Amino acid sequence: MERTLSIIKPDGVSRGLIGDVIKKIEGRGLKIVAMKMLHLTPAEARGFYAVHRERPFFEGLTTFMSSGPAVVMVLGGDNAIARWRELMGATDYRKAAEGTIRREFATDIEKNVVHGSDAPETAAFEIGYFFNRLEIFV
Ligand code: ATP
Ligand code: MG
Repeated sequence: MERTLSIIKPDGVSRGLIGDVIKKIEGRGLKIVAMKMLHLTPAEARGFYAVHRERPFFEGLTTFMSSGPAVVMVLGGDNAIARWRELMGATDYRKAAEGTIRREFATDIEKNVVHGSDAPETAAFEIGYFFNRLEIFV
């Protein structure tokens, strides 16, 4: 079983989309094996998105990610990383496929409702950023 980190970003939480996102996750057969709500500090958001620190959107992204509470989850299942990214849809919601979360709910390339790890190494880093072993239920 593969694991991936999923976040319902502050826009998704403030717009009341937690239930819709979880419905789609479970409906797609991905298993939620860890979950918590937290409000990232700007420093914590910068640490999480450190791979993007040279990008022009880094300041905006980390300000947004620390603007309110988010829901962080570990999802498990066969091919969980790719399957969760497929369900999220493209980063730019205008290019996201029909039926994806971003196509249905996102309003902005930055405020795109959800996050998903993009590879096994980033999944391991991101899961460890938020959860310890005792908080993950296989
Ligand atoms: P995520 O890592 O959040 O799952 P992603 O892998 O689809 O999204 P990345 O390229 O890793 O996309 O970008 C991280 C996040 O930065 C995006 O989800 C989005 O919130 C923001 N972002 C990406 N590109 C832009 C952009 N051109 N302008 C503004 N924000 C952007
Ligand atoms: Mg990414």
